[in-house]
Amino acid sequence: MNNRREFLKKGAIAGMVLSGVTAANHHLFAQDQGSVQSPGNSILMRNSYHSVSFDMTQSPGILTSRTINIFYRILKERTGLDFLIKSDQALTIKLNIVAQSMPPEAFRIEKTGERLISITASDPNGILYGVGKLLHTSIFNHSGFSPGTWEGLSVPEKLQRNIYFATHFHNFYHTAPVDKVTRYIEELALWGYNNIEVWFDMHGFEGINDPKAVAMTDRLALILRAGKDAGMKITLCMLANEGYNSSPVELRAKPPKQIRLRGRYGVEICPSQPGGTALILKQVEEELNAFNSRGVMVDFLVLWPYDQGGCGCDRCTPWGSNGYLKLSKKIGELARNKVPGIKIILSTWLFDCVEDEGEWVGLAKAFSAEKPWVDYIQADSHERFPRYLINNPVPGNLPLLNFPEISMWESWPWGGFGANPLPQRSQRLWDEVKDKVAGGAPYSEGIFEDINKVIYSQFYWTRDRSAYQIVREYVAFEFSHEHADDIVQAIGILERNHGLKAAYKSGTPVKINVPIVDHGAKKAYELLKAVDKNLADITKKGWRWRILLLRAMFDYELRQTNGVPNKAAEDGFRELYLMYHAEQADQSVRPPVK
Ligand SMILES: [Zn+2]
Repeated sequence: MNNRREFLKKGAIAGMVLSGVTAANHHLFAQDQGSVQSPGNSILMRNSYHSVSFDMTQSPGILTSRTINIFYRILKERTGLDFLIKSDQALTIKLNIVAQSMPPEAFRIEKTGERLISITASDPNGILYGVGKLLHTSIFNHSGFSPGTWEGLSVPEKLQRNIYFATHFHNFYHTAPVDKVTRYIEELALWGYNNIEVWFDMHGFEGINDPKAVAMTDRLALILRAGKDAGMKITLCMLANEGYNSSPVELRAKPPKQIRLRGRYGVEICPSQPGGTALILKQVEEELNAFNSRGVMVDFLVLWPYDQGGCGCDRCTPWGSNGYLKLSKKIGELARNKVPGIKIILSTWLFDCVEDEGEWVGLAKAFSAEKPWVDYIQADSHERFPRYLINNPVPGNLPLLNFPEISMWESWPWGGFGANPLPQRSQRLWDEVKDKVAGGAPYSEGIFEDINKVIYSQFYWTRDRSAYQIVREYVAFEFSHEHADDIVQAIGILERNHGLKAAYKSGTPVKINVPIVDHGAKKAYELLKAVDKNLADITKKGWRWRILLLRAMFDYELRQTNGVPNKAAEDGFRELYLMYHAEQADQSVRPPVK
C-alpha cells in the first residue's frame, strides 16, 4: 500500500507537469473533489447539446469504441434523443491515451475550449472511467445533454474494485435476459468496477458434463465475457472442497464446527481421505477447462473455506489453518500451471466465527514460516469486520480485500421491497477498514442494491469520499439535479426504516413484519411522490426510480395495514417480480407476491 501511495503522489505530480496545471490548482481540485456539487447557478450557465462527437488522434481500440457506444446508449435512454446526428453546434469530446502519463486507470477531464472537453488517460480503462465521471456529473432532459462541469485529475486509490454476482435461486443475474445483465455490467464499469466475480456452484449437478452444469457454465461465461468487454478482469470463486451431488459417499467431508453458520450441502469432499484431494483437483481442472474452452480466461481465483464447505474430521481440523490451507496450496499450484499469471485470493470467510478455533493464528503462523502461496487475503462478515484483522497484521503481510454484504442484511426476501439503500451502514463499515484494504468485492444478489454498489465503487476509488456525496451524485445523475436534496433526504429515511421482512405460511407470504419505530415513512413517500410528479416520463419509468419509489410506498402502506399487503403493495410486489424476471425464483429472491 505504501508503494501505491508513493506512486499516487508521483503520478499526480507527473500529471501536473504534463498539463501545466499549477500545484495550487491541483490542491484546489483535491478539495473540490470532496465538496458537494451544488445545483446552483452553474447549471443555468451550462450549455445544452443535441449532438456529441468524439475525436481521437489514434485508432480508438476495442474498449474505447465500446465506451463510446455505451455513452451514446445511455444518452439515448435518458433523453430519447439521438446524439449521433451531425451539427455545427455539437459538443466534441476529445479522447487522448498517453501511455504512462498518469497512474493506471486514472483520468483527467478538462474543458479545453468552447464546446470542447478532453479526457486524457494512460490506458483505455482510464478513458472508460473518465467518460463515466463525465456522464455521472451531467444533466439530461428533454432539451438535451449538459455535460458535467467537474474538471481535474482522478486516480483510483484501490486497485481491486470487484463486484460479486451471485447467480443462483433464479435471481436477476441467473435468469434475466443476458443483454439486460450486460447493460447493467457496463453501467457498473462506468462507476469504476474493474473485476467481475462469479461462482460455479457444483452441488446441484452430477458433474461438469451434466446438461444443467453445461447451461450454467454457458450463462456464467456470457456474464464474465460481458465483464471483460467492459474492461473488467475475471474472477472465479470456488469452495475449496466443494463436490458435485455425485461425490463418492466414502470421500465426503464431516460437518465442521458451527455448522448452523457455516452451512453444508453434505456433498463436500474431505481432502484427507485417500483420493479426496485428487478428486478435488480433477474437478478444479475440469472447471478451468470449461471456461477456457468458452474463451473465458480467468484472471483471479478465490478459494473459500466455508458457506458451504469445510471438513470437521480430525485430520482436517482446524479447517482454516490446516486442511483448507494444505488444499488451497495444491489448488493454487494447479491453477498457476493451467493459467499462467493467474492470481489466487484466499478467503477467510467465517474463520473463528464464534470462538477462537486457532484458524487466524494458524494462518498467520503458516505464512510467516513459509512464503505465502496466495496473492491476497479476503475477509469480512455479515456484520462487523473480523476482529483479528482489526488487532493484528494481515497474515503474510498480504494485500487485504473486503467482501461487504450489501444485499441480504436485515430484510427478507432479498430485494422483495425494492431498493435497500444503506449509506450510513456502508460508511460505518468502510471507515473501519478503508486504510487496511487494497479493495474488495461487494456481494450482490440483484439490481435492487444498485445504490450500495455505487457507494462501494466510489469508496474504492477515493477512500475518503463520503457516502453522502456519492449518493448525491448518484441521484443527481440517475433522477434529477434539481430535486437531488429531497431524494437524498428520503433515502436517509428509507435507511432508518430498513428491515421489512415477509412471514410465510406453507410457502405463501401472509404478512410483512414492519420495524416498530417509524422514522418518517410518510415523509419519505411524500418527498418521492412530489419528485415523481416533476420527473420526465422517461426518468420516472426507469427501473432505478421505480425500485426507490416502490420501497418508500411499501414502508408507508404496510404501516397503514399492520403488515397486511393492500392493493398498492400487491401491485408493487408484482411490478418487482416482473422487473427481476422472478418467474422461477426461490423464496429468498422472489418478491412476496401471492
Ligand atoms: Zn477431512
